[in-house]
Amino acid sequence: MNDPFAEKRLQMVEQQLRARGIRDEAVLRAMGKVPRELFMEEDLRGSSYADGPLPIGRGQTISQPYIVAYMTERLELGGGESVLEIGTGSGYQAAVLAEIAARVCTVEVIPELAAGARALLEGRLGYRNIFFKTGRGQEGWPEFAPFDRILLTAAPVEFPEGLFAQLADGGIAIAPVGRGDQRLVCYRKRAGTIRSDDLIGVIFVPLV
Ligand code: SAH
Repeated sequence: MNDPFAEKRLQMVEQQLRARGIRDEAVLRAMGKVPRELFMEEDLRGSSYADGPLPIGRGQTISQPYIVAYMTERLELGGGESVLEIGTGSGYQAAVLAEIAARVCTVEVIPELAAGARALLEGRLGYRNIFFKTGRGQEGWPEFAPFDRILLTAAPVEFPEGLFAQLADGGIAIAPVGRGDQRLVCYRKRAGTIRSDDLIGVIFVPLV
């Protein structure tokens, strides 16, 4: 099959991800497979594999490839997990997760973005392990809980406490937290207790 983006995708994986320390082969494989160019507006496709975030409409953005890879690696996915993603946006991160995990439940507050991501992921790309909900992610998705992993791709001022109840024991949640000085934080649940680790500084759109 003729894929005009194949070389750019491979370069992105090698130069932006592997060269910067992403080691998880499942993450590198997933990002080497998902056609990032389909997740943006047509006039931006030429920049799909650029080393930064890009607008996806409605004032929202698709994250920089390195940040997608970094967060996915930090989720320590083995393959059998059920994952909750909050902030579907373009659906790119959901696709990367669905390449590795067993099931991805993704929640988006802007109906047009949710519908667009669903049409692409389910319709065009044929994913059968991604479930879509339109609404506020703070409420999670009780019908599918507990989740082995939870990933927020929009930043709350503080992690929404209620979501910890939907995190399985032994589970990991990752979220950008704060306004202004935002940090990516990793939470682990062990025997009902949450322990948090500060990872890196990031810039995400706010969780509304
Ligand atoms: N993961 C996305 C990028 C997310 S941008 C991707 O791969 O493209 C952040 C998204 O979070 C935006 O689409 C925004 O509309 C959404 N969002 C913001 N607040 C939200 C909330 N309370 N619940 C669900 N989604 C929310």
